[in-house]
Amino acid sequence: MSKNTPLVAGNWKMNGQREQALELGKLAEGLDKNPVEGVDVMICPPTTLIMPFSELMKGGKVAIGAQDCHTLVSGANTGDISAEMLADAGATAIIVGHSERRADHSESDALINEKAQASWRAGLVAIICVGETNGQRQYGLTLDVVRRQLKNAVPDGATAKNTVIAYEPVWAIGSGLTPTVEDVDKVHNDIRKVLVERFGDSEGGGMRLLYGGSVKASNAKELMAVENVDGALVGGASLKADDFLGIITSYKS
Ligand code: PEP
Repeated sequence: MSKNTPLVAGNWKMNGQREQALELGKLAEGLDKNPVEGVDVMICPPTTLIMPFSELMKGGKVAIGAQDCHTLVSGANTGDISAEMLADAGATAIIVGHSERRADHSESDALINEKAQASWRAGLVAIICVGETNGQRQYGLTLDVVRRQLKNAVPDGATAKNTVIAYEPVWAIGSGLTPTVEDVDKVHNDIRKVLVERFGDSEGGGMRLLYGGSVKASNAKELMAVENVDGALVGGASLKADDFLGIITSYKS
């Protein structure tokens, strides 16, 4: 069981318009009616919904995060958005280095490292994603790949407060497949070891390590019970309040 306060974060990706505030309202209502103590909850909606959602959730139990940012504060970068703008809109964290950004936008670890620093510059938490592809897994390269990503994508100033690491095996995202509990345990323990070696017991030990990839209510309890799993990053099952609540309540004792 995790010694760090768990975080259950939903990544809505490119899904949702204003009417989706109904699901957010249902989520907040569900958490009010049936509180799950000692768990942080976050929704990362599309950028257009960050400001209205953060206003709706002001003072409530659901934090609002973003899914990506540019490295710069401002400038001639058509279509991009800075971490400062996301903070201004009410985001408290930014997911950086999601495998869909790595694959679809050719994002490198070096760029992700800069985006994490941009998040911190704006006073936000960086949720840095790492994880192997299926091919890498089949060649037995999982730990090598994840270690390399941690080394290059996590900046030197990472602390327990400003950084969350999300281990998301690429092949498990949106596929309905998950690694075995033993495999999650092995990878998370290795990530913890690397972080403690680099950042020390307090910072490296206190950094939250989320598991992501096909988490749903039916498998959340066993995945969240793994040592060094401090919560989940959830895609598909975060879009419906009932599904997401089912995952969050896996933390109810
Ligand atoms: C994700 O994309 O971060 C994710 C974990 O997606 P899903 O839960 O749908 O697999």
